[in-house]
Amino acid sequence: MIDKKKLNYIRKQFPIFNKKIFDNKNLVYFDNASTTQKPYSVIKSIEKYYKNINSNVHRGSHYISNLSTLKIEKSRKIIQKFINASYNHEIIFTKGTTDSINLIALGIKKYIKQDDIIIISQMEHHSNIIPWQNLCKETKSKLEVLPLDKNYNINLSLLDYLLEKKKEKVKIISLVHISNVIGLENNIKKIINKAHKNNTLVLIDGAQSLSHTNINVKKFDIDFYVFSSHKIYGPTGLGILYGKEKLLKKISPIQFGGGMVKNFSFNLNKIEYEDLPLILEPGTPNISSIISFSESIKFINKIGINNIKEYENKLLKYALYKLSKIDNIFLYGKNIIKYPIISFNIKNYHPFDIGMILDKYGIAVRTGNHCAQPFVKFINKKGTIRISLSFYNTYEEIDYLYNKLLKSIKILSKI
Ligand code: PMP
Repeated sequence: MIDKKKLNYIRKQFPIFNKKIFDNKNLVYFDNASTTQKPYSVIKSIEKYYKNINSNVHRGSHYISNLSTLKIEKSRKIIQKFINASYNHEIIFTKGTTDSINLIALGIKKYIKQDDIIIISQMEHHSNIIPWQNLCKETKSKLEVLPLDKNYNINLSLLDYLLEKKKEKVKIISLVHISNVIGLENNIKKIINKAHKNNTLVLIDGAQSLSHTNINVKKFDIDFYVFSSHKIYGPTGLGILYGKEKLLKKISPIQFGGGMVKNFSFNLNKIEYEDLPLILEPGTPNISSIISFSESIKFINKIGINNIKEYENKLLKYALYKLSKIDNIFLYGKNIIKYPIISFNIKNYHPFDIGMILDKYGIAVRTGNHCAQPFVKFINKKGTIRISLSFYNTYEEIDYLYNKLLKSIKILSKI
């Protein structure tokens, strides 16, 4: 359980909450879906790497290089365990969720033919749309977008139709697990079962998931699962691509260089590449981020994901309760939000204006289309104000937001 004492302890672990940000104000951070704050253990781990063992990996014959290599490989194992992958070489280090999706979309190109079908949904982040649009353009395949119903659930009729009528032409479905616009969870198990009956692959965009819940890639039989370290209290510039071993072996590398070669030849066809994971990780990896990301996982495990879920759910309920007291507020999907990501608008006021005023009070929210224009335009053309919560947020911060929202409305009503 996260009680007051524990919360106090947790907040003390985040340096950004223990200092004034500007105008002598503390930061009230409600933009966790964009990126999360970092605890000391993660920051210190980055510092420790550069101070003590800064060196390149997988190629040195000296002490600190071997140590760096051991540490990134240990991180790989911690990440493997975190999502319950079968093997550590099923964990590929990338730059982020976006990079991971691009790697798959480009890496499967040779298997996609004219008139094949790629499926996404109307709920996707642009990072899970544009790579597929490009793949379709290059291969003359077709992108199908599963629409949302009025409750923001993905309507599966089109999926059923395509799987039944187009059969083996439906090559891959790429779907978000938890939306970054409203904290809705898609029934990925159901969709994966449908897809696998047709031998269709499924990629799950888990960018918003692992800070709020756990995932078991084996149990869910997920083919590819992608996420970013920076959204799980870890450093920026590091993403994870999980893929089943037998599938990753079929993915073509999309970048080439050092680190991935076993035996070089000037005859391109005769180059012998390393096995997984190195074949998909050319160049120097983001060593300090990989090492320190394992500290984020340790941090989450120490608090306990069930405690996180329980506390965040209480915060979510409280935030919805407080916000619903505001006149003329539109709280999108109010009764179906499962995870603490809330999108709203206040009648007659532009989300950006509200966001600007809240910022003056030290409250960080996100406004606009959240890089998910198809979804946000479906909700409201002007965009939304989004608050996304974490286990380090407090009831008092929600009260503060409520008061400052009322104040913002008052200020704007006089303009
Ligand atoms: N998908 C979703 C659902 C996201 O929320 C984000 C980040 N907002 C991304 C993909 C892209 O993540 P990144 O910018 O870390 O690559």
